[in-house]
Amino acid sequence: MIKNTLTALFMGCVLTTTVAMNNPVLGQKKTTKVNATSTTITTKVLTDILEKNRALYQQGKVADYIPELGKMSADAIAFSVVDDKGQVFNVGDVQQKFTIQSISKIVALMVAVSEKGESAVFDKMGYYGTDRPFNHFANLETTGKPLNPMMNAGAILTTSLIGGEGEIPFQKILTMIRYITKNESIDYSRSVYNSERETGHKNRGMFYIMKNNGLINGNEDQLDNYFKQCSIEVTAEDLAKIGYFFAHQGTRYDGDTAFKNPEITSLIQSQMLIAGMYEFSGEYARRVGLPSKSGVGGGIAVSVPGKMGIGVFSPALDQHGNSFAGYHMILDLVKMYQLSLFEVKGN
Ligand code: GLN
Repeated sequence: MIKNTLTALFMGCVLTTTVAMNNPVLGQKKTTKVNATSTTITTKVLTDILEKNRALYQQGKVADYIPELGKMSADAIAFSVVDDKGQVFNVGDVQQKFTIQSISKIVALMVAVSEKGESAVFDKMGYYGTDRPFNHFANLETTGKPLNPMMNAGAILTTSLIGGEGEIPFQKILTMIRYITKNESIDYSRSVYNSERETGHKNRGMFYIMKNNGLINGNEDQLDNYFKQCSIEVTAEDLAKIGYFFAHQGTRYDGDTAFKNPEITSLIQSQMLIAGMYEFSGEYARRVGLPSKSGVGGGIAVSVPGKMGIGVFSPALDQHGNSFAGYHMILDLVKMYQLSLFEVKGN
């Protein structure tokens, strides 16, 4: 069913073309805690959290291994929440677009699994977490299979599994992102795409190892689709809507259920939890405790299962490739509203 709907949607598109605490360290300072309902999330709360963390970008570094990314102003910052009623709250540089980068991997996984089924996709890669950076070759030379679909190798493979010639798999991912965000204006940055394509030799290396191992059958169009999906430009609001979608079993923030699929969204949230923040995922699960996906463009999308979606943006990254100020804004919101899946109630 979802497959047909997805195809129909794609075809349609083709045809028509301080309340928060200071520090993440456990056991420090008590936080003011409130219940997260649509009446308690306010622009004021988000503004306070944003302002508290605004200067943190100075401790991070804007990614420049993709030269075009290095042009982003380091002090841009935005914070968005879609609450449990689907209401949108935006503060900071709400108009600022940035490239989605690795956050596209969760949507690509959804498209691949909806077409091929979970077992066909995970025959070719693992459900493993990792202590290695996102662009590590990890298991490719040993078991021959990528660790998971959240690191580059598994994500490149995932995109190669989506059906269609040439650019079609990329168009399916773009169409899905436009659907989830209800934002038809979303497109990809040609300059970031070209920059990734020209400098992405490590990703190209992974692509050819996987081709050598018989996991990938196609040509470099498939790798280009991965570069294009990473170059899709979004805002923090778009990310909050993506977070909401996966938090609500595939129901869009406006209540649309055309792609509702609890099985797939449960799978994707589990991958976000164990590998969405790369080698920081384990510690992040302890501190934040929510399925989240980061990208080297400076965005993080967070799903609060059954509740809300959170989107943050600040391009200066920590040593793992996660937004420095973005992580701290999430941490503050999560502590204030007791959003962690592992929250000790009544504490
Ligand atoms: N396009 C980036 C890359 O392949 C995505 C990495 C990321 O966001 N962590 O290197």
